[in-house]
Amino acid sequence: MPKCVFCQIVADKLPADKVAENEQALAFNDVNPKAPIHVLVVPKTHRQRPEELSHEEAAALFRLADVVAEKSGIRQSGFRLVINVGKHAGQEVEHVHLHVLGGRQSTGIF
Ligand code: 5GP
Ligand code: ZN
Repeated sequence: MPKCVFCQIVADKLPADKVAENEQALAFNDVNPKAPIHVLVVPKTHRQRPEELSHEEAAALFRLADVVAEKSGIRQSGFRLVINVGKHAGQEVEHVHLHVLGGRQSTGIF
């Protein structure tokens, strides 16, 4: 079994509250939400850093984030997309993920 938690979620070895998917990306609710809507969008193939994504995978992540925003009812009100990279950003899971955050007015960026 892969030890990466997001790979395990993609492989259905670990439960997750799935929101949407396309061929190359999966979206599921963050287990510890920091906003009323907090969804993670991950590539189905393990990639540690954003620059490791193919053009197609990167596009799939952003397209799925838009689907998530529409499904969650925050597409019109707006949302933030965040990718944490490395230690100072506080990256906990070493599998690239796009945070989709929304549902209230944001108060700051960092
Ligand atoms: P990072 O700090 O790496 O950008 O964000 C990792 C995010 O993944 C955190 O917001 C954390 O709550 C979430 N997370 C960590 N483990 C799990 C898990 O097993 N399931 C889900 N749904 N979210 C997780
Ligand atoms: Zn992984």
